[in-house]
Amino acid sequence: MTDATAPLIGSGLSGLQKALPEAKALLARRLVAAGRTPTLVDFDKHGMRLAPDEKVVLQQWLDAGLVTRVAAETRAKDGTVKLLLELRDGKKVETVAMPVGACCVSTQVGCAVGCRFCASGLFGVERHLSTDEIVEQIVHARRVMRIDRIVFMGMGEPSHNLDNVMAAVARIRDEVLISAKKQTFSTVGGVKPLERMRQFAVKPCLAWSLHSANEQKRRELLPRAHKDPLPEIAAAADAYAREVGTPVQIEWTMLAGINDTDQDVDELCTLLQGVRGYVNFIVYNPVDGLPFAAPSRERIIAMVRAVKSRGILATIRDSSGPDAEAACGQLRLRDRQPAAPTS
Ligand code: SF4
Repeated sequence: MTDATAPLIGSGLSGLQKALPEAKALLARRLVAAGRTPTLVDFDKHGMRLAPDEKVVLQQWLDAGLVTRVAAETRAKDGTVKLLLELRDGKKVETVAMPVGACCVSTQVGCAVGCRFCASGLFGVERHLSTDEIVEQIVHARRVMRIDRIVFMGMGEPSHNLDNVMAAVARIRDEVLISAKKQTFSTVGGVKPLERMRQFAVKPCLAWSLHSANEQKRRELLPRAHKDPLPEIAAAADAYAREVGTPVQIEWTMLAGINDTDQDVDELCTLLQGVRGYVNFIVYNPVDGLPFAAPSRERIIAMVRAVKSRGILATIRDSSGPDAEAACGQLRLRDRQPAAPTS
């Protein structure tokens, strides 16, 4: 029997709430997350027969639908698919499905950090995404290709929406069946958010968007990131990585003439002494109207070699889908004007 005191059926993956026994509700959510419409046969197979009133509840939930819908789909030459998702309030976010099986998920509408080189921060932040709005991005991505890895590297700063994102990490594990070890939370950091993350039961891997190890330069590049001293953020990231058991990924968008000098490499390697992590260099992807460029191929290789020569593992990220503006730093709100320049 269903719970007579349960709230009305809501839309979205979590809309079943207490309307079905938890095991049945979870199975229904898993089936939707796998791209299927739950049928009675599915429940029979799992030894969970639906009572007549439960069938009604399930059908109402299916009719209510998800809280997001695909408004547009763009395919890049390399097979990357960028989905423009419309939310119930008409706002839009972008999600990227990559042929390597990874899904780049957005966590906010816009972003408050305003990194100078990123299209997502051009317009400021409008609002946080709900947990359903985060998880449903993967449901949509799974309908276009196989997805078995999640990176919270789309539009938004996940630590600004920490509770909803960490709830999504747990639900992605339980409903989408992608383990927390295959989920990466990418943040500009901050000691307090990193310490808070350690208190959640289900913890994703960590990526720290550093981009410069020089305090002054980083504040110019990431004007509204946490102002904690970089060695303190590095220590908090290291503590998190050791607790989770996977090294922290240090993200560094390579900008010609900005953060690609020998001194930049020296400051980076000095900061990372003793940190359990590796550097992931991201070659800058052009954004219309922004005055940045990627370093030359020779300079990129020289930087990677210089970091490795200091005993720190370094890799170069091969960004997906630049011709569809789906690559790192290229996701943006297309119906907005840029926010007024800050600092
Ligand atoms: S790089 Fe990340 S934190 Fe910076 S503006 Fe873009 S989305 Fe926000």
